[in-house]
Amino acid sequence: MPPLDAVVVGAGPNGLSAAITLARAGLRVRVLERRPAPGGGLSSAELTLPGFLHDVGSAIHPLGFASPAFREWPLHAFGLRWAQPDAPYAQVLEDGTGVVVERDLEATARSFGRDGAAWRALFGPLVGGLEALLGDVLRPLPRPPRHPLLLARFGLRGLPPATWAAALLRTPEARAAWAGLAAHANLPLGTPGTGAAALVLGTLAHGVGWPFPRGGAQALTNALVGYLRFLGGEVETGVEVRSWRDLPPARAVLVDSSPAVLLRLLEGRVTPGYRAWLTRYRYGPGLLKLDYALSSPVPWRDPALGRAGTVHLGGGLEAVARAEAAVARGVAPERPYVLAAQHTLFDPTRAPAGGHTFWAYAHVPPGTPDTYADVIEAQLERAAPGFRDLVLGRRVTNARALEALSPVFRGGDVNGGRGDLWGLLARPVPTPTPYRTPVPGVYLCSSATPPGGGIHGMSGYWAAQAALGDLFGKQAVVRGEG
Ligand SMILES: Cc1cc2nc3c(=O)[nH]c(=O)nc-3n(C[C@H](O)[C@H](O)[C@H](O)COP(=O)(O)OP(=O)(O)OC[C@H]3O[C@@H](n4cnc5c(N)ncnc54)[C@H](O)[C@@H]3O)c2cc1C
Repeated sequence: MPPLDAVVVGAGPNGLSAAITLARAGLRVRVLERRPAPGGGLSSAELTLPGFLHDVGSAIHPLGFASPAFREWPLHAFGLRWAQPDAPYAQVLEDGTGVVVERDLEATARSFGRDGAAWRALFGPLVGGLEALLGDVLRPLPRPPRHPLLLARFGLRGLPPATWAAALLRTPEARAAWAGLAAHANLPLGTPGTGAAALVLGTLAHGVGWPFPRGGAQALTNALVGYLRFLGGEVETGVEVRSWRDLPPARAVLVDSSPAVLLRLLEGRVTPGYRAWLTRYRYGPGLLKLDYALSSPVPWRDPALGRAGTVHLGGGLEAVARAEAAVARGVAPERPYVLAAQHTLFDPTRAPAGGHTFWAYAHVPPGTPDTYADVIEAQLERAAPGFRDLVLGRRVTNARALEALSPVFRGGDVNGGRGDLWGLLARPVPTPTPYRTPVPGVYLCSSATPPGGGIHGMSGYWAAQAALGDLFGKQAVVRGEG
């Protein structure tokens, strides 16, 4: 066998994306994954009952659908099919009314009445320039933008706290819809940078919808693995890389793991400055996740909620802001902001005939006991009376279990690091190419590098591009990038 050019530690979406980028450049690549199957946060399993297929980590994939890398690659040829819900997302108000946000920006703006113009102004220009916008935000921040005007427009509303843009909205419906988006940041809504999460997700909702892979998140992983193998790459599972000595010889090593694991692997070989940055790397709060097998669809008080793939519960803007602020103070809220996905309404392949899956989580402070699942469930029951009667099976996943799924989710932080401004600029080090480590040939490629959390594979793509340039005199090729 010819020697390996590169080894990738970890077969999460970023590790696979890095490996594909290298293999497309003609390199010989092997991916080593500690778990029995590839995927990391992009996996599916029968978590409750036989035949009910749940997403172990990520569930809704607008970033995966629109990712410049994934879009360029022929993942369709390796079995990937997308399910597109009627409406991307909805927010449940205190009285159970659903605010359904349509993919059609105009229709949504009209439904927001006197806030229609403000909603149009927030999202319209960004939806029009979606591809350019993603090219500029799904990359290391310190680099000069290629579409400065568009990025300036994004920065104007995205860099400040989400509460600033909320002040432009007056109706409870539009304010609630905005809050539901902003709370994805897993930070108090008054934190600088939280507007960016809301803008990106809201723009994707109107630009491409919030789709997910038919047959489970694992289908996207399987397509990535299939394409990598087609390119000659290898994936070995059940191999945990604990030390440098576990690695086969290769010119490049890309690590799809946490900064702490990287430090352990590079023990004694990094500069004190780099070690200090990685040791100080900060995480956001964790979450408590519930997966349900249900005997029928969720009986929403407002049947319109059945049109949305993703449902945010927790009431209006003030209630959502209160809940997220409580989590940051270390208090598990009585009325949590809950993020839920109802896949089987739009993809019946995930459950036996007539049955349904339901995926939900709430942000929680460290140490929250598993019994908090009942508080989350009470929130579901308020919006959908009779919900509990439909439950055939339930699985609770806590922060510890998420860390066991992948060290990237330290303390249960699914974004792999805080998503505030500093967390985006120093991810994990404030340099133009934060993928490089002080050890020549070694790169970090997980969501602890830009552009951060989410299924998009772009951290892996950019890390691979750095390795290609530094070591092999090559360039990655993805249209609109590079
Ligand atoms: C509950 C939950 C819900 C989420 N919801 C969404 C969502 O709806 N949409 C979205 O876009 N994103 C979502 N995310 C975030 C998304 O899953 C992550 O941002 C993404 O998986 C990060 O990809 P990654 O490749 O950087 O890391 P991971 O997915 O964590 O993959 C890292 C892989 O490397 C392996 N590994 C690590 N260290 C080693 C080692 N030493 N040796 C061998 N193998 C190793 C791990 O086992 C793992 O398989 C969610 C995550 C979770 C957990």
